[in-house]
Amino acid sequence: MITDKSPLPEATGPCYQAVLLVGPPGVGKGTQGKMLAQIPGIFHISSGDMFRELDRNSKFGRIFQEYAGIGKLVPDDMTIKIWQDYMAAKIRDEVYNPKSDLLILDGIPRNITQANLMAPFVQVFKVIYMVCEDREVMFKRIRGRSLKEHRIDDAEELVVRYRWDVYKRETEPLIDYYPQERVRIVDANTIASDVLHQILSAIVPVQKKYFEPPVM
Ligand code: ADP
Repeated sequence: MITDKSPLPEATGPCYQAVLLVGPPGVGKGTQGKMLAQIPGIFHISSGDMFRELDRNSKFGRIFQEYAGIGKLVPDDMTIKIWQDYMAAKIRDEVYNPKSDLLILDGIPRNITQANLMAPFVQVFKVIYMVCEDREVMFKRIRGRSLKEHRIDDAEELVVRYRWDVYKRETEPLIDYYPQERVRIVDANTIASDVLHQILSAIVPVQKKYFEPPVM
């Protein structure tokens, strides 16, 4: 059984101090991310939202649609470049302060190459591993989401199933890549408040240890 009872790592160097949300498509990362984002001192970004905010007619916007439309990951170099620019913009706009905010990274890094590319800029305190073994529950959630959010990649059953395979092949190995004492398994096959409770029990100690209480 993986535990995360070991002491938290020390903060070093000027970088983003982060917690990763890792889990398959439809597991509820977006729902949890939105709730976590409401907490003062937490800044949440979702790579899917970051891509969807790109101008659809820009070069990167078009490349994103091409890959997302068939359920493939956007190439790593481009992803990290867009992510770096996105983070810089959030700091410039003063919505994210790396010194006082814990960064929740949802959907990025998505594979080990991305984790290596990001490593110089990100200190990963915890990896929240959202687990739901019942694939059909997730496919059902995605079908519901496709109607509500008009997402091109959610509408096609084949694309959804392909994204699941991509997750298993590319993203899940991230769980073994990080030191096991930083990984917290969260049962995502339950009500949203229970999932939130499990996530908070992992990240509240991180926030308390590394960040000053925000000025309200
Ligand atoms: P889900 O978690 O349901 O698959 P996301 O909104 O996270 O949905 O991602 C939608 C699409 O955006 C992905 O299928 C992929 O094409 C692209 N994408 C999101 N994050 C990344 C990433 N870190 N690297 C490469 N592609 C990504």
